[in-house]
Formats: sequence, structure tokens, C-alpha cells
Amino acid sequence: MRIIRNGELVLPTGVVTGDIVMENEVITYIGHITDIPDDAEVIDATGCYVFPGFIDPHTHFQMTNALASTADDFESGTAAAIAGGTTTIINFASPEEGSLKQGLAVHKGRAENHIACDVAFHMEITDINDAVLQEIPAVAKDGVASFKVYLAYGFRLNDKEIYEAIKAIAPTNKLVAAHCENGPLIEALIEELRQSSKLDVANHPNSRPVLIETEAIERFVTIGTLTNYPVHIVHVSSGAGLETIETLRRKGARVTCETCPQYLVLNDSVYSLPNFEGGKYVMSPPLRKAEDNQILRDALASGKFQTVGSDHCSFNFESQKKQGMHDFTRIPGGIPGVEERGLITYHVLVNKHQVDPSQFMKVISENPAKLYGLYPKKGTLQVGSDADITILNPYVEHVLSKETAHTKADYIPYEGINIKGGIAHVFLRGHHVVNNGELINAHLGKCIP
Ligand code: MN
Ligand code: MN
Repeated sequence: MRIIRNGELVLPTGVVTGDIVMENEVITYIGHITDIPDDAEVIDATGCYVFPGFIDPHTHFQMTNALASTADDFESGTAAAIAGGTTTIINFASPEEGSLKQGLAVHKGRAENHIACDVAFHMEITDINDAVLQEIPAVAKDGVASFKVYLAYGFRLNDKEIYEAIKAIAPTNKLVAAHCENGPLIEALIEELRQSSKLDVANHPNSRPVLIETEAIERFVTIGTLTNYPVHIVHVSSGAGLETIETLRRKGARVTCETCPQYLVLNDSVYSLPNFEGGKYVMSPPLRKAEDNQILRDALASGKFQTVGSDHCSFNFESQKKQGMHDFTRIPGGIPGVEERGLITYHVLVNKHQVDPSQFMKVISENPAKLYGLYPKKGTLQVGSDADITILNPYVEHVLSKETAHTKADYIPYEGINIKGGIAHVFLRGHHVVNNGELINAHLGKCIP
């Protein structure tokens, strides 16, 4: 038996002081304990926030694309996750040889050993044909968290295919999410930039301006509305993107959305840094203006975003990003961030915006659990729920640094950011895996289901 004693328990309705008992991997009691059994392990949480373990709904571990393979595999990626208080990640699985079932099996196989946190999967739909449409109910039954389509990249679906995908997914009740950028227009802009020899990293954001995002958001939500099924937008990067969603919501569209820490605290000034430093921040959508940071922070504080995903997709600066030094289209896109997501979001919401820790808890844990079918096993402090618990000490100063990070990438994009608050303890299904900020057990994770 383990007992968390005298913590500030973060519940949906507010913060209350109390104790939590964990036994056999689940929470067995919440309240005030008077008699402590002799054999109980007691963790004093006085003055600390006790959250349901954080859930990161957006990671790409052990992924290979046309340009490179990610620096982090499941082992290092999940170690970074749990060190940052994240007890469940939902990773993207792509089809294998055209098959969703095979894709899910392959990705699960990669994750099954040596993971430090629990792992669930989203299934990407990169092609529409009879075989894929027939497999959708089967992989839904196998427990995928959601389905995802792309409006950009070579594996994007066209509007008719997206419509057909949503129609096929709707009976499964799984969420349909999309990467919203207009792929054909990006290709046109890149061609123009190439013809005028503007391929330095400073031009990356010029190949994917805000209109590329807003157009795709509007189109995807419109297709969702036509099918009468709710849709979800991942990694909203701009104030205009958020405003597009809000306008569609006012017209009755059912749409939830995610933003990412990078769009809250980093801006496009980094793309003109000397010595190709901007290459570290190449991602899609690109970083926007400082004004966008502020709009998205305010929107997150007022509940317009349901989730914050890291979009962790890590590549090494020296050996991988630099291959695109003279051609930004050769820079593998993505950044590490699974470890920093929780504290950055806490910093923005609780420290800067002074929102109630309960509101932060919903964004970082409860909402993703609910949207992706993990609730109430995950995402809540309740008797009977998995004892996934993150204890955050709000008084310690924490400087984000590659020196202490667990990613295998050779840099972090949040280097030097100072945060009041640190991860003190993490429990994964009742097992004590982070102790006083130290990762002490990195192989207790399991695939869900
Ligand atoms: Mn994406
Ligand atoms: Mn992504």
C-alpha cells in the first residue's frame, strides 16, 4: 500500500487537501486517513499539487519519414514523458503495406518492451480504398484512440476521401482528427521559393503562411459538418486558425481542438537566428508571431482549446536538421517536447494566467482521457481509476535544459526557460517511478489496451 499524504488534490471541481491510497495499481481511497498501517509507504505531499497523471495526446516516437528517423524511440520517448509527469502518451501509428491492422500491430510491437509510461495509439488514414474502409471497425475494436487524416504531405487525402473516411469512422464513435494545412498550395509556394533561390531556413514559414492553415481548418470542419460528425483539429498554431474555429463553432459546427507548447512560448523570430539555429525550430505548422502566442495563451486560459499536445517528433540538430542547411525542404520537421509540455502549460496557465489548477488539469489530463476513450481509467483522481499520479511542487524553480532532459535528441527547443514548479513524484499504476524528481523506474509502461 502506498499513501500520498496531505497533498493539494486537483479535482475537476477544485483543489482540496487530502490523502490518496493506492493498492494493486489503482486508487482505493481518497479522503483523510487517521490510521496509517505499519507496512504502508507514505509520500508526504504537503504544499504540492497532486494531479491525475498527465496525458500527451500527440507524439511521434520511433518514426521514419522520407527524410530521417526520429532521434527518440519508444524507450527514450516514454522516459522523457514520465520524467515530465506524463503517465500516458498517445502515439501515431501509420498503416503498413496499406493495412491499418498491420500498422497497429507493427507500432505496438515497437512499443511493447522497455516503455516507461503507458502507450495508446491513434491510427492514421493515408489512403482510402475498400480494404481500408473495411478495416476501420476492426482497429477501432482493437482499441485505437482515434483516427487521423492529413490535408498536407504526400499521404494527404482529398476532400471526397476525407468525407468517406469520416462516414466510415462515425459508427465506431472514435474521434476523427486532422492535420490542417493545404498541401497543394504549400507545394506551389515551395516551387516559387525554389525558383527564386529562397531556400534558406528563414523562408520555411513563408512556405506555410497562416492562410494555409485557416483554409484547411475551414474545409475540414465543413466536411465534418456535412457528415454530421464531430471533428478535432490538432496543433492549431495561429490566432487566425483559432478564430476560424470559433467562427465555425458559432455557426454550430462541432469541433474540438489542440494547441502545442511551442505555439504558446516560441515565435518565428527564431527562423532568422545566425548559424542555422532556426533549423532547430522547423516544424509544421511553423512558429507564428509573438501576438499569436498571446492570443493562443488567452484562448487556452478561457477554455477554447480542449487539449495541449507536444507533437514530439525529435530529430538531431547536428546530424539530421543540418542536412537542410541550404534547402529548408530537406530539414526533417519536428521538435522534442514530450518532457516539457506539462510544465510549460502549467507555467502559462497557472503561473502566468492564474487559472485554477483544475482548469490546467482538464487540459493536461482529463480532456484528452475523455476525448480518446481512456476515461475514467485515466485522467482523473477517482477510486477505481488507475493510480497514475503526478505530484508537482509549485515552489521549486526549474530551468528547462538539454542537460537534464531525457530525449535522445541533441537539443531541446525550450532551453533556458525558467519555470516556477517542478515534477516531484510520479506514480504509474501505483508504482513509484519518479522520486524527488529522479526517474527511478523506466520499464513499467504498458500498451493500452
Ligand atoms: Mn501534423
Ligand atoms: Mn504530429
